Amino acid sequence: MSKICNNCGQDLPDSAAVCSLCGEAQQQKPSPTSKKKLIIFVSVIVAVVVVCILIGVLVNIGGKNALVGKWNYDMNTSEGPPLLLSDSIEFAPNGTLRYNQGYGFYDAGKWSVSGSKLYFDAGDGYEGSLEYKVRGNTLTLTGSYELVYIKDK
Ligand SMILES: [Zn+2]
Repeated sequence: MSKICNNCGQDLPDSAAVCSLCGEAQQQKPSPTSKKKLIIFVSVIVAVVVVCILIGVLVNIGGKNALVGKWNYDMNTSEGPPLLLSDSIEFAPNGTLRYNQGYGFYDAGKWSVSGSKLYFDAGDGYEGSLEYKVRGNTLTLTGSYELVYIKDK
């Protein structure tokens, strides 16, 4: 195993950092293991970036569609009473907000989203907006406290 000085042509061992004859600095060839490590490192970075983009797409661009469906109030992790004092709420695709206090679902009003905000209007002055976040099957609504809902199967 040897290389040739790129200045004077002297035969040099692969590990030589400078030429033994002319003193020219020699480029180090990356060893096969460090090349492999570099490829693995780059692959991991690419994989992480792709996963982050996918998660970002699912969480943020899900928008209105991410909320559509029935959600069950999680009393164990919520910090306050549920929206509409209801065991379950439903965000219908047509913008109707529905609630279930244990006797089936009834129309309660309207809902919509804008950016990361959920707007609801249940009539009788009961309206407002909350920050919403959907992660997998968990919906978190944040106002003065956090409400947690689990997607109904
Ligand atoms: Zn040389």
